[in-house]
Amino acid sequence: MDEFTLINRFFASQSVARDDVLLGIGDDAALVRPPPGMVMAVTTDMLVAGVHFTADTDPRAVGHKALAVNLSDLAAVGAEPAWAVLSLALPAAEENWLAGFRRGLLELAQRYGVQLVGGDTVRGPLAVAVTLHGWVPPQAARRRAGACAGDGIYVTGTLGDAALGLKRVLGTLDLGDDGAALVARLAYPQPRISAGLQLRDVANAMIDISDGLVADLGHILTASGVGAQVEVESVPRSDAFRRQAQTATLGDLALTGGDDYELCFTVPPQRETALKKLGLDCPVTRIGTIEAAPGLRIVNSRGRPYVPTGEGFDHFAGRD
Ligand code: ADP
Ligand code: MG
Repeated sequence: MDEFTLINRFFASQSVARDDVLLGIGDDAALVRPPPGMVMAVTTDMLVAGVHFTADTDPRAVGHKALAVNLSDLAAVGAEPAWAVLSLALPAAEENWLAGFRRGLLELAQRYGVQLVGGDTVRGPLAVAVTLHGWVPPQAARRRAGACAGDGIYVTGTLGDAALGLKRVLGTLDLGDDGAALVARLAYPQPRISAGLQLRDVANAMIDISDGLVADLGHILTASGVGAQVEVESVPRSDAFRRQAQTATLGDLALTGGDDYELCFTVPPQRETALKKLGLDCPVTRIGTIEAAPGLRIVNSRGRPYVPTGEGFDHFAGRD
């Protein structure tokens, strides 16, 4: 199969056809029309075989995740996703792999009305990069900076599931009946697009949690020039996580494990009522409070300092 057959066969036809795409796949550049007055939001993320996923990962999961991680980044700034570009390095044009990958990518694209408008296809070690474009009204985008002392710190969903699932994928932990659900959190992350859009009206600062709560909340603290106190027991964990993470080290994956793609955001006290009224499509949990003094202070339910163990500890923010 030559390059053009491959592109035509797997990527040129798709069910999303946006009115604002003047020229899609097939020419030298795509032409798109952002809504008047909007600011473009642009993000890219690359997944490399052997680094971000194992070579035997279901290609549908690779396609899903390649777009999902980018959708999560747009969610974190509160942008509406619109157009994607796909760069693919493939060791060979394997039809089964490409069909699965296409399905995972385009299913998710369809769910969010994202149109694939171009890309590049080369032969090389398996790697996938999606660049995603969207838009947001000026001033509405949320950033890592902007958290203020007194803000409540919130997260969506539950944390640590994907990191626990990874242990089963790597064969170091048997998760019993919970294995499939926890591995699915790793393989098929669900970006918090609608929550991100709604939260831009109430959040002071926002980030998506890709490298673990401690690391990513740490980015908010650094960018905002503030500190925080987080109560370890308040960090939301799924029932499957609670059943399977029986040691302290595993339990700490809720604090330090990556790949959750939930949102972490801060809300000032005067907007907490507005937050409750949003009616978000996902659970939201308050885990702590922004404080003026720099550094992240994790405490147990008795208010005593809590030091997370296990991997990811190197990311511990505020530590010298
Ligand atoms: P050029 O040589 O002008 O860069 P290419 O031959 O690389 O163009 O690509 C031809 C068309 O196919 C372009 O519109 C490009 O955006 C699109 N394309 C190439 N690879 C992909 C891909 N993996 N996914 C989607 N579109 C692609
Ligand atoms: Mg060209």
